[in-house]
Amino acid sequence: MALTSAHPAPPLLVSRLLALALTLALASARKIPASITPISRDLYHSSDSILGEIKALVARNSDSLTMDTVRASNKGYSAEMFVVTFNHAKETVKDGSKIKIMLSFGQHGRELITSEVALSLLYILTEKRRIAGVDLSSFEKILEHLVIKVVPMENFNGRKRVEAGELCDRRNGRGVDLNRNWSVDWGKKEKDYNPFEEDPGTAPFSEPEAQIMQELSKSFKPHIWVNVHSGMEALFMPYDHKNTTPDGAPSQLMRSLLENLNRRHFQDSCLVGSGGGAVGYLAHGTTTDYLYDIAKVPMPFTFEIYGDEKASTDDCFKMFNPVEKTTFDRVINKWCMAFLILFEEGLRILPGSQVASQGALDNWVPMGGEILERNADEKSGNENRQLEGLDLGMQELKTYFRLFIISTFLLMFMFCSRISKNRNRESGNF
Ligand SMILES: [Zn+2]
Repeated sequence: MALTSAHPAPPLLVSRLLALALTLALASARKIPASITPISRDLYHSSDSILGEIKALVARNSDSLTMDTVRASNKGYSAEMFVVTFNHAKETVKDGSKIKIMLSFGQHGRELITSEVALSLLYILTEKRRIAGVDLSSFEKILEHLVIKVVPMENFNGRKRVEAGELCDRRNGRGVDLNRNWSVDWGKKEKDYNPFEEDPGTAPFSEPEAQIMQELSKSFKPHIWVNVHSGMEALFMPYDHKNTTPDGAPSQLMRSLLENLNRRHFQDSCLVGSGGGAVGYLAHGTTTDYLYDIAKVPMPFTFEIYGDEKASTDDCFKMFNPVEKTTFDRVINKWCMAFLILFEEGLRILPGSQVASQGALDNWVPMGGEILERNADEKSGNENRQLEGLDLGMQELKTYFRLFIISTFLLMFMFCSRISKNRNRESGNF
């Protein structure tokens, strides 16, 4: 007498086995999580090497560059920030009449690509590094009318954490989101509030980094401020905490600057509008909302310069930063160029400013190579999408086939055990 026939599988056990088999089959059909992409050290500078290069750049170009190191601390936590100022030495224009521009990069630690753009832009401004073969010598005239402050790594401590392996962390060295620590609508939490991402701190400006930036907004009084991020591609203006843009002529001016930039440089491909309206979620206590409402900066923007929508949500380095050289170079070139056009548009559009060289960049836009590359990308993107669709179809078929085999096997198993059970009954085994 076989053991199986002596102890036939009870129906409960069979249904559990069936459920387990179903779960296993579904799990195997589900996409296996992509492996986590590490920081591409051959493409990206470390924070220390960015700092080293900037120091050397400042030393070589003392006629146009200066660098300040600003420190602040609060309740046992301290932060250091490096502020580079570009101001053309051959001053044909009085400082008071210049357009003042503030560019801040790396407010979120995991968005390393932004600081690479900062470094490249400083090379372009001072040592005429070329963008995609474009000669920028005629841009000199425009630069004479500008004072540009660059904060290449606003969140230096947070970035150190990312470099130490916390690839998904965007907060500062003690876990506060620096783009939620400003005072306009501070501390309000949306339904989908995620403390790991958006911790606003214990009070507005509780964080030394935010204090330093606030101080800069007061002392420098910029006309244009760009807070540079990654995660998607967009040109945002206030507000972040509501889904509208401010009323009135100044707001209209901001919008037209962004629309000009979008048309001239991005062939209208960028998302333009209020952060809160266009991005799909509201953010409270952000930098640009404070700059517009309180610091009265006429044109505070948030630029989102890159995002990989296909990357898995736990693969943060890949989600926020290009991982292969062609894309890396293209993002840097494209956004450095965008800043140059922004400078020109700013000069053109800001009331009372002198138009230094109207249309100096017109011949350079759109960039031939850029368009070709973008078209090629779109094509391969579509092909990828199609391939993915095909892949998904095959996966579904495989899943159904597996389920069919398992169900058949289990049904046969139940059937056989019932037969042997009946046989045992017949033979009076009980
Ligand atoms: Zn960000």
